Amino acid sequence: MLMRSLRAAAIAASKAVFPHFCVACGDEGTVLCDDCDLDVGSLGSGIFGCPGCGERTVAGRVCRRSACRQKSVLDSLACALPYAEPVPRALLQLYKYERVEEAGEAVASTFGRFLQWNDADFCSLAKGAVVVPVPMHPWKEAWRGFNQADMLAAVFSVSTGARMVKNVLRRRFGLTAQAAIKDHDARGRNADGSIGVIRRFTPGMRFVLVDDVFTTGATMNACADALKRAGAGGVHAVTFLRG
Ligand SMILES: [Zn+2]
Ligand SMILES: [Zn+2]
Repeated sequence: MLMRSLRAAAIAASKAVFPHFCVACGDEGTVLCDDCDLDVGSLGSGIFGCPGCGERTVAGRVCRRSACRQKSVLDSLACALPYAEPVPRALLQLYKYERVEEAGEAVASTFGRFLQWNDADFCSLAKGAVVVPVPMHPWKEAWRGFNQADMLAAVFSVSTGARMVKNVLRRRFGLTAQAAIKDHDARGRNADGSIGVIRRFTPGMRFVLVDDVFTTGATMNACADALKRAGAGGVHAVTFLRG
């Protein structure tokens, strides 16, 4: 009881010291006021498009173009909102970089609403599949204190009933010394590390990879590639934002 009231007092004090302002309209109170939350809700019911070219497809499956089929290891991609939308992007950044818990809750509820809207699609996708958050580099995660993909994967797991398993994939450092790599992009990839499967699973098992943002798809495809080499039967991706 004492602990609870102390905690409540600490929360009240932190709110008093750091008042929150709505990221959309600037009103004082919460990071996303009810009116602006309604506006975010009207931004659309999801982006279901080919992971290679972005063309709208049924359930976000890879389109028929041979270039997309060659490029994309992912079987499908579904994203809640476009990265270009400033409000969801601001919420995600507040959560990731400023560690504002309330912003994380707003991201979770927006993501959960998107899953609910497409309940039938996601439940059939998740049936018999394992939900895996895209791993961060362990040093990055230690510095940040959390991996935002874990939170989103947990929301997906609760919403669809699919089992979430965290330690399936792991990022490792590249084996090449950074100084030996001339190309800037290649250095970035090397520093980020390669993706490895660190847990055995039944061959043919399907996976749903969850992350916060899909941009070039390099990381997601590397995860899918590692899973398929280890015997995965299908790898689908779901993210909060699509760039
Ligand atoms: Zn507002
Ligand atoms: Zn395509």
